[in-house]
Amino acid sequence: MSTCRQCRNDFPIFPDEEAFLKKMVFTLGSKEIHPPLPVFCPACRLKRRTCHRNERNFYRRKGTLTGKEIVSVYHEEPLPGQHHKVYTHEEWNADRVDMTEYGRAFDFEKPFFEQFARLQSDVPRLGMMVIGNENSDFTAGTGYCKDCYLINSSEYCEDCYYGKLLQSCKDSVDCSYLYDSELCYDCFSVYKSYHCVSLSFSTNCRDCLFSLNLVGCSNCCLCSNLRQKEYHFRNEKLTKEEYENRVKEFFGSAKGMARMKEELEQLRMTTPHRFANVVNSEHCTGDYIENSRDCLDCYDVNESQDSRYVTVGVKVKDNYDCSNMYIKPELAYETLGTIETYNTAYCLFVFHSQNLLYCEWCFHCHDCFGCSGLRHKKFCIFNKQYTQEEYEFLVPKIIAHMEKNGEWGQYFPPSLSAFGYNESLAYEYLPLTEREARAEGYHWRHMTDAKLSVAKTIPASLLPDRIQDIPDDIVNWAVECEETGRPFRIIKQELEFYRRQDLPVPRLHPDVRYDRRLSLRNPRTLWKRSCMKCGKEVQTTYAPERKEKMYCEECYLKEVY
Ligand SMILES: [Zn+2]
Ligand SMILES: [Zn+2]
Repeated sequence: MSTCRQCRNDFPIFPDEEAFLKKMVFTLGSKEIHPPLPVFCPACRLKRRTCHRNERNFYRRKGTLTGKEIVSVYHEEPLPGQHHKVYTHEEWNADRVDMTEYGRAFDFEKPFFEQFARLQSDVPRLGMMVIGNENSDFTAGTGYCKDCYLINSSEYCEDCYYGKLLQSCKDSVDCSYLYDSELCYDCFSVYKSYHCVSLSFSTNCRDCLFSLNLVGCSNCCLCSNLRQKEYHFRNEKLTKEEYENRVKEFFGSAKGMARMKEELEQLRMTTPHRFANVVNSEHCTGDYIENSRDCLDCYDVNESQDSRYVTVGVKVKDNYDCSNMYIKPELAYETLGTIETYNTAYCLFVFHSQNLLYCEWCFHCHDCFGCSGLRHKKFCIFNKQYTQEEYEFLVPKIIAHMEKNGEWGQYFPPSLSAFGYNESLAYEYLPLTEREARAEGYHWRHMTDAKLSVAKTIPASLLPDRIQDIPDDIVNWAVECEETGRPFRIIKQELEFYRRQDLPVPRLHPDVRYDRRLSLRNPRTLWKRSCMKCGKEVQTTYAPERKEKMYCEECYLKEVY
């Protein structure tokens, strides 16, 4: 047991963690350097890492080089003491700056992080991390998306609006964790499905409404835990006509559908749930794990192995304390945002690189230390080019200097984040109040809605119940959210979607809709609990005080028809 330097809670260091840190080696001449044991608990480590990623707050601002208006995750108003240079993709490519121009010698009189903060301010950064998109300005962390709006962390999508983690989806609105699906609305954690509304935790479904935990079903409404069923209403078999008449009673009416949604939430409280979503995996704990082995305390991980404390990982191997890791990152510790890396520790957004320590935004690099924004470089320290011999001599000296200052082995501190805690990914899973965040050394951003240039604003309560009574002119208005009073717009493509799907116009601000969907996910924390049917001990993300029926795998499967 160790005591967390931040929250003072005791936390375990497992034998596999120690073994992993021994396995990870940075060879510098005759010296072999391993990352030290952590001084923060796993939750504080996760916060400190994910506070450096903003994936859902976008701002209109000017690019630093040309003054061209862009959409960026960086607010035009920098946080106190910061002055980052923010570039558009064109500026970034056109400028062709060799970022070693910003190189500087390490100053052994000053702490490492203080010097790194200065380097971060000098080196230009990309305003938005996107690749290969078409007409999808208001998206972040997206790749190969077309005509999408306000989505993040998504790839290969078309005509999708509002949401996160959409993969290969089409014509879907207000969905998160949606995979290979089409024509979905208000869905969450849904795979390979078509034309569904308010469906969650389901796979291979068609035309299903207000349901959860379905597999291979079609035309089911207010159902749960069904397999290969059709025309079921409240888990009861109806004829096709009976079913269609029942759906007709509410479908398309804002009031009717709100009633269904309420009933769905009651159903969520009474229907049995599987203790964790771990599928086709061996010796794994956490939630949403597929086709993996030996992944412990991991969340949203697939085809992975030999890892612990990973949140969002695809094909990861030997990753500890990592987040948003894609495409075969191997041997990674305390790192966020990679594609194809090998042997990286304390890094942020490093792609196609090896043997990096304390680097950010480095692409196609190897053997670099404390660098920012480099491309195709090796043996650099603070962006300054060295020979291999100089590099191998200097790096251990800097590490010794960091050890002396208590910096070695810590991730980039919260003060180096360009985001307020409330703008960052950390806030989504581990929310803090402004006071708590500031007390832990995080920034905070006071966010105000940008003023909308609209013809008029109407309260949601005055919207007509059905889409056919909504005038096309609504795209020029703002609607006042019925919960928060925050005004929001309906975009033209979105309105067309509602018309085609006979769906009422939403009454809630997109952020409220986003947060409500996200609240369907359990926290990324494991508790030891007993199956509420047979008493068998399981590790689950259902906290002990929760009222839902939480069953072990065997008991859950017995409940499924
Ligand atoms: Zn802690
Ligand atoms: Zn059981």
